[in-house]
Parts: sequence; structure tokens; C-alpha cells
Amino acid sequence: MSAVPPIQTDIAILGAGAAGMFVALAAQARGLSVTLVEPMADTPNNFAISGGLFPAAGSSLQSAAGVKDAPAAWLEDLRAFAPGMVNEHIAEAVAQALPSATALLVDRYQAPIRFLADVVAPGHSQTRFHSVEPASGTAMHAWFRAACRAQAGIRWVEERVEVERRAGGVGSGVASGFASGFELHAPGLRIQAPQLVLAGGGFGGNPELVARFIPGMAGALHNGSPTQDGSVLALGLSWGAQVWGMDGYQGQGHTNPGGVTRLGMSIPTLGGILVNKQGQRFVAEDIGPSALAPWVLAQEGGQALEVFDAAIESQLGNHGAYQQAVKAGCVMTHDTIEGLAAMAGVDPQALAQSVAHAARCARSEGADELGRKSFARVLGSPFKASWVTGALSHTQGGLLTSPDGEVLHTSGEVMPGVYAVGGCAAGLSGRGADGYLPGNGLAQAFGLGWRVAQALGRA
Ligand SMILES: Cc1cc2nc3c(=O)[nH]c(=O)nc-3n(C[C@H](O)[C@H](O)[C@H](O)COP(=O)(O)OP(=O)(O)OC[C@H]3O[C@@H](n4cnc5c(N)ncnc54)[C@H](O)[C@@H]3O)c2cc1C
Repeated sequence: MSAVPPIQTDIAILGAGAAGMFVALAAQARGLSVTLVEPMADTPNNFAISGGLFPAAGSSLQSAAGVKDAPAAWLEDLRAFAPGMVNEHIAEAVAQALPSATALLVDRYQAPIRFLADVVAPGHSQTRFHSVEPASGTAMHAWFRAACRAQAGIRWVEERVEVERRAGGVGSGVASGFASGFELHAPGLRIQAPQLVLAGGGFGGNPELVARFIPGMAGALHNGSPTQDGSVLALGLSWGAQVWGMDGYQGQGHTNPGGVTRLGMSIPTLGGILVNKQGQRFVAEDIGPSALAPWVLAQEGGQALEVFDAAIESQLGNHGAYQQAVKAGCVMTHDTIEGLAAMAGVDPQALAQSVAHAARCARSEGADELGRKSFARVLGSPFKASWVTGALSHTQGGLLTSPDGEVLHTSGEVMPGVYAVGGCAAGLSGRGADGYLPGNGLAQAFGLGWRVAQALGRA
């Protein structure tokens, strides 16, 4: 191993997903040389699977569209949505960074990112989502990968590496000739870097870790990527890092059974409802897609029927996830509620009553006993429906960091040269499924990623 001459790089990044590739682009824009390690490049990661929707309150794209918003307003929404569950170590830094992160992608790298004026999301007081058009994680991921590969300053390594930490303090011992920093090695390969970014995603694809930290979701459908094995998180833990919010996760209560497609988060906000196999509503559907997951799982067979109409569907033209569900044949259509109930196999009378009740609430003729505040519209023919279940999409707990993404040791000290971002770092808000405000995943990957990239090379 030592006979192989080492490659020197300013920054080594473990994981080329949303977080790792964002940091790579932002660091190389600062003139730093980057080595990006991705051993599972052929397996779609969470970024590629995601809806690709990220909030950036106060971006220039959003303000050019005439929307008045600001980082502080998003932060207020986050705190109201997840009271007492916000990761205050990073929340404000991420909020402030998101407009700059978006500008970097658009202005410096000409990313085809747009402000999506029609994407409404539970918990957000303003339209503030951005993506490519139509919104899709697959397309966003493909753009990021092509952009990273096009940069001379970003070296790709597609092998799994062992990492040795030579910090002269916490961690492994000091070796000769390279007293401080990190050595990454694989057969025939040695890379030396003074700074290391842990960006290997979370642990949703590791059943033992899920059972240990999120016992309520042990054995539940995981509709995230199998690459989320927790291996990079484990590296930080082996060096004595502190963790935060390990029971937090993004649930997905709009997942089609089997987990291949999903409807996306917007149908309840636009007026859709959910009923169980008995045709009865069971939850205030607009609590958010994450919090919805355990409610759906608690119904008979762990499934519910999401009921909406063609007018709602017409507003989902830009939603890649919904369009894929339609393509996969997961959406039923009928002119009447009774016909729809027969197609789905639910009690027609009860479904008609549920739809009629929602219509009365939408017309402000009654209050909802389940506590839903807004029904948006009265559903009309042609009607649509799709079976959904609850899934674990990605985990929110991870390595606790400073606002600059520096990993904190259990002693409370910053671990020199070690950064974490994305799924292996502590997320924006946690505790079960309830604290996940839509868009928190990519908001943290890009917002904290921006802060990491500005901090790198300073030490
Ligand atoms: C179904 C679904 C829908 C989602 N929709 C949205 C959405 O619309 N908006 C939103 O904000 N968030 C969404 N998310 C969350 C979002 O995808 C994640 O927050 C984001 O991808 C996290 O970025 P990451 O880089 O940490 O993880 P990833 O994007 O998964 O990248 C991690 C990378 O690390 C690699 N890796 C793993 N182990 C190692 C190792 N030992 N060494 C080196 N590399 C390694 C993996 O192969 C992977 O490529 C969704 C997630 C899912 C599953």
C-alpha cells in the first residue's frame, strides 16, 4: 500500500449524492481541488430517487417571480411545524445559505433550476420550491453528476475506500510523513487530504440500524435507496462523534404499495382526501406527507385510498413523482364516486359520505372533526383515486455539526478537519416522522453544503 504514491487533494468527499456533489461544485468554485468518492455510482441514490424539490426562501428566482419571502419566514414555518424539534445548531445557517446555494448553481454553473410557482406544500406559508422542470430528482441528479464530471478540479474515485484519520488527537495514531489529515486507500490507490467531508447518506437502508434507532419503523417499507447503509455515519461514530435526532425520519404517506412510485406531497393541500378500506377518513390529511405515514400504516392492510379529481391532477403536470405514478397505472379514474368506489373495492356509501363531508367543509358549512383546517376545493367529476401506503424515505438523525458542518465530538469539541452534510449529518428537525417539513432533506444538503464549502480550506 505505502509503495503507491499518494494523490494529494485539498478536500476528500465520501459520497456523490445531493450533499457531496453540491459541496464538490461549491468547493471547486472556490479554487479547491476535490476528490469525490462514490463506490455505488450505478445504484440510484436518494438524490436520484427524490422528488428533487428544494425550498430556497428569498432566492432571486423566487423574487423575480414576484413572491415576497425571506429566510426568516421559512425558519418561522419550520419552528411552527416542528415545535421543540428543530436542530437549532444549523437551522438559521441553512436558511440564510439557501439563496446563495441556489445562485451558485444557477449563476456559476448554469443549472437549469427554476422557481416552481405551482408547488404548494404542507407547512410552508409561501410557494418557495425550486427544481428542474418537470421536477424530478432523477433529472437533478443527472445534471449534478454531469456538472461534477465536467470539472477538471473534481477527481472521481469509484471504489470503496478505507479511511485513516491522522489527527494527532482524537482518533487513530499519527503515522510517519503525514501527521495530520486523512488517508483514503483502496488496492492501488492512496489519497491524502487535510479535510474530509462525510456525505454518504443516512441509514434507512440498514434494517439493523432502523430497528435500533427507529423501532416503530422496523420492517416497514423503505422507499429510499439501498445505498443508505450508514457506513459513512459509522465512520464518524468510530471517531467519537456526537449524534442528534436519531429517531427522526422522513415518512412518505403517499407511497404506492410496493414502493416504486408515489403521488407526491401536494394532493391534500389542493383538496384531496384519504379514506381507509371502509371508505372513512381517519386523519387531517394536510399534516404533511411525513407525519401521514404512520397514520396510513395504522389502517387495515397498512393502506389508504387517496381520492382527488381531474382538476387537482391538472395542477400536477410539473410533479415528476405524480407523473410516474400515472405512467405506472396507479391512478384510477371514474365519472362518479360510486364507480370509483367499485373500482377500488371500498364501501361506496361511506366514500360518498366522506366526499360530501369534505365538500361541506370546503364550502365552510361545517367544521372537520379530524381537525383539518382547509379543504381547498369541492371535488368534482371526473374523480381520481390511488392506493397508498406509509414508507420510510430517509433518516434524519446523524452526526451533530456546527453551523459550518464541522463534526462535533462527544466532548463538545469540533473534530478538526471532519465535516458532515446530507443524510449522515443531523437533519433540520427530528423526532419520529412528525418533524419533517417537506424539502428539509435537500434544504440541509444544499444549505449546510454551502456553509461547509465556504469553511473548507480556511483551517
Ligand atoms: C423517496 C424520496 C423522496 C424524496 N424527496 C425529496 C424532495 O422532494 N425534497 C427534498 O428536499 N428531499 C427529498 N428526499 C430526501 C433527499 O433525497 C435527501 O435528503 C438527499 O438526497 C440527501 O443527500 P445525501 O447526499 O446525504 O444522500 P444521497 O443523495 O443518497 O447520496 C449519498 C451517497 O453516498 C454514497 N455512499 C454510501 N456509502 C458510502 C461509502 N461508504 N463511501 C462513499 N460513498 C458512500 C451513496 O452511494 C450515495 O451516492 C427524498 C428522499 C426519498 C428517499
